[in-house]
Amino acid sequence: MKLPEALDLINPAVKTQKAYHLERREVPVKLNQNENPFDWPQSIKEEIGKFCVDRPWNRYPPFIPDELRAQLGEYIGLPAECIIAGNGSNEMLLVLLLALAKKDEPVILCQPTFTVYHLLAEGVGAGSETVFLDSALQFDLDAMLAASAQRPRAPFIICSPNNPTGTELDETQLRKILAAHKGFLILDQAYVEFGGFSAVPLVNEHPNLIVTRTFSKAFAGAGLRIGYMAGQAEVIAQINKIKLPYNINFFSEYVARTALTHRGELSAGIDLLIRERDTLAAFLAELPCTVFPSSANFILIRTDRKQEIFETLLADGILVRDVASYPKLENCLRISIGSPEENNLLKQSLRRLFGR
Ligand code: PMP
Repeated sequence: MKLPEALDLINPAVKTQKAYHLERREVPVKLNQNENPFDWPQSIKEEIGKFCVDRPWNRYPPFIPDELRAQLGEYIGLPAECIIAGNGSNEMLLVLLLALAKKDEPVILCQPTFTVYHLLAEGVGAGSETVFLDSALQFDLDAMLAASAQRPRAPFIICSPNNPTGTELDETQLRKILAAHKGFLILDQAYVEFGGFSAVPLVNEHPNLIVTRTFSKAFAGAGLRIGYMAGQAEVIAQINKIKLPYNINFFSEYVARTALTHRGELSAGIDLLIRERDTLAAFLAELPCTVFPSSANFILIRTDRKQEIFETLLADGILVRDVASYPKLENCLRISIGSPEENNLLKQSLRRLFGR
């Protein structure tokens, strides 16, 4: 077979997608991926290293990671049976769409939002229906309710705090959507430790609510690939059927448990990052740009001088994310909150550019 023939065989739902890709650039100050700037303490890493060396590598991890589920349950306040853990919350989103999406029944998405939802909705053959955020990039409750009324049984994905805008859906808004929507509501709370309210307790009242969370942000574990979802036990038992067996390797499983055991120590950086975010937002507000309120570990700005700012920062070794190609985000940059030193370098670079 010739290569074009092989390419022709690829599912059109995949072939027509634009690849989700991030160009790799080596820079001293990396503020483009909403990572946590603080690495884990050496002592904890060494303890995990010792566990990995001692544990036989020829044996599968547990079929069901009971201990991790129990610890996660204790952390978020639900029984272990209400939780599935996996290889990052990205994997949880894939599993959810495999279990919940139906061919040609579009998934409702609030744009602009995390790109992966659209990619997966297309990939599973459902496609997506867009509800735009309003002109201030806040959730537009009326438009969301209208979309739900039009497609009452469709899966509805909401990201709160929303990436890349930082926007939060408050509890009253969420309750109104849950009261109306007759399909599943997937609430991605990857950034919830930085602001907003945890919707996990609402799972008890709403069997169609599933909340996804991650260790990549507040727990500073982006490299570890651990995320989880929470829903009612019977719903979780169904979704579990489509998850690959052994999706978490023994290393990730042990690391996640260690993270929960040491969560006091690891989460010490969260308050600092929140303070840094608020200080940086106040600083940016003095510059000729619009700063959107953020409940996450990043800030979205809009400015006529987007390209100049991006390039100046890059020349100073600071990489931020150009999100101008997202719907409704013309002239926008997203800046992740770094360590105080990194944020100072960012401020210095911007001060020089704007002569302040
Ligand atoms: N959801 C949102 C909103 C995100 O921004 C990200 C990562 N950028 C993810 C999910 C995926 O996170 P994970 O590392 O847990 O796969």
